[in-house]
Amino acid sequence: MAEKTKKQEKEKKKKLPFKRTVSNTVFALRQIWEASPVYFVGYYVMTFIYAPLDFLTGTYLIRMIVNGVEKNTPHEKIITYMLIVGAVQLTVNMISNYFWNVVNAGMYEQIGAKIQKKLFNKAQSVELACYENPAFYDKYVKAMDEAYNRTRKVMQTLDDLIWRLITLACNSFLLFFIDPWLIPFGVFPLLLGFLRRWINKLNHNIAVERKPIDRRIRYVRRTFYLGEYSKEMRMGNMYLRMLDELKATYYDFKAMLRRHALKRALAKYLQSIGLEVICVMGAMLYAVWSTVARGTMTVGDCIVILGSIGTISYCLSNAVQTFADFGEHSLFMEDVRNFLDYETKLTSPEGAPKAEKGDICFENVSFRYEGADSDTLKNVSLTLKQGEHIALVGQNGSGKTTLVKLLLRLYDVNEGKITLGGTDIREIDLDSYRESFSCVFQDFKIFSMSVEQNVFLRRRREGDRELAEYALKESGAYDKIATLEKGIDTTLTREFDENGANLSIGEQQKVSLARVFAEDTPFAVLDEPSSALDPIAEHKMFENMMRAAKGRSVVFISHRLSSAVDADRIYLMDGGTISECGTHAELMAQNGKYAEMFRLQAESYIGKEAAVQ
Ligand code: ADP
Repeated sequence: MAEKTKKQEKEKKKKLPFKRTVSNTVFALRQIWEASPVYFVGYYVMTFIYAPLDFLTGTYLIRMIVNGVEKNTPHEKIITYMLIVGAVQLTVNMISNYFWNVVNAGMYEQIGAKIQKKLFNKAQSVELACYENPAFYDKYVKAMDEAYNRTRKVMQTLDDLIWRLITLACNSFLLFFIDPWLIPFGVFPLLLGFLRRWINKLNHNIAVERKPIDRRIRYVRRTFYLGEYSKEMRMGNMYLRMLDELKATYYDFKAMLRRHALKRALAKYLQSIGLEVICVMGAMLYAVWSTVARGTMTVGDCIVILGSIGTISYCLSNAVQTFADFGEHSLFMEDVRNFLDYETKLTSPEGAPKAEKGDICFENVSFRYEGADSDTLKNVSLTLKQGEHIALVGQNGSGKTTLVKLLLRLYDVNEGKITLGGTDIREIDLDSYRESFSCVFQDFKIFSMSVEQNVFLRRRREGDRELAEYALKESGAYDKIATLEKGIDTTLTREFDENGANLSIGEQQKVSLARVFAEDTPFAVLDEPSSALDPIAEHKMFENMMRAAKGRSVVFISHRLSSAVDADRIYLMDGGTISECGTHAELMAQNGKYAEMFRLQAESYIGKEAAVQ
């Protein structure tokens, strides 16, 4: 907890140097420029036209009419001026309408999509370890949440700044022209800049401290609406704990507000006193005194001064705010940039050779998860000869899945090396290396897409219906898929399609297994591919699997040791090391832990006597 508070303190003190703020602002603007230069230019051209026009059709027109009436100016002159201003405004309105509604229709989404695409591409390339690092994950979520919004806010803030500077210049010029003594009233808000900065800092602190709370709220929400949690949520009283968690987030949120909200209210109050009482009221008194008592000002001037002073103080105080806003946006853009600039550690050297068939060897491999106290794999050595089928068995937590993750280069080893055909896999082109594997994971996922798309995880196969059907038949899923009205075109899950199919876990597993049949990669990894199947389906699936895998190198993990019997070699893992290795017959003859486990499992299927025979 103390550590958490320290971390938050550190975040709070975070302030970017001016140069970095400018650079982040330019970065945000560049994103929009790259997405659509037309939109970018059009956006600001409109402001350069609109801001002076606003002054001319508002403040300046009023002054001219009132002064004109007071000084008996010929009404034709006034009307002519009004007609010209009206005509210009109509024309500009027409152009801007065309720009916003025709040229830029849908531009928001287009720009948002381009920025999201950059982030998704990055997210796809970062190593799995990043997802397990809360600090990185927070940054990732923040970047995803804020990227587009903040980019647009930077654009709007710059637009506001331009607008305000033009309006400020027009009104200041007018005031200076009427009475230079009015200028100090307008400039006063600049002195209140420190209050702006304070408010801005508080806003940022609130936003930063909200993030982890929001993350917990989102998690609780997920447990209520995602199907995968629904059974546990109903069968126990987990939902009560989740509601408690929700309540806890509410208290944390309130505590966070207590820390900052009162200070923010005070800062805003002081600011409004400074602006409204000293600046606007002071100028009003001076203008009324000059008009009524001294007679040095016309009524028209007095009226526009009241408006102009308000406008100037608003523009100035907001120009200060604008810079503070740039600072705030920049802090968020920093997260986005950090995320985009993050250099993925799992890479391969430029021009690295493509993966080819060959033997895979683990040579004295050790591995520790980030933040863990001890190694999950310790000095593991094993060989998968080309075309061999090896089985990894062992108790839960013994490191089988971790070994597979290293094999797939989802993580890199800490010590030792893994080689393919004698070359360290870190020296082989990563994409081609991963492409040479077909996998079924223990925690496989079905996507809310068609059956066919779920079978072809790699797009190049899309459209090959014959192959999809073959793969589904081999994995045993086809019988079920054939009963669905749209067959392999049926959408899986009903999340986006009310006619979608909700398959049982076993059926889903068969569909995910079809992915292996649909690819003729040189390597296949099957991590508990049949955990959701009944023993008969499992047996059939294994037969099919091994037939399809002929000629391929296969690593499979199965809790049912009977499926390991035919493997070329079995590795028994225990506490992150390989404790036994050999064929089924060899290991049974050794009469070690494998033999004991095998007998125990056989007993539970066929009875004690039969197992002993
Ligand atoms: P198995 O597949 O044999 O059940 P795993 O390889 O999944 O075993 O896990 C081995 C050990 O590594 C376990 O103690 C597990 O808690 C730990 N472990 C697995 N994944 C992670 C992770 N992402 N971060 C930290 N520890 C992990």
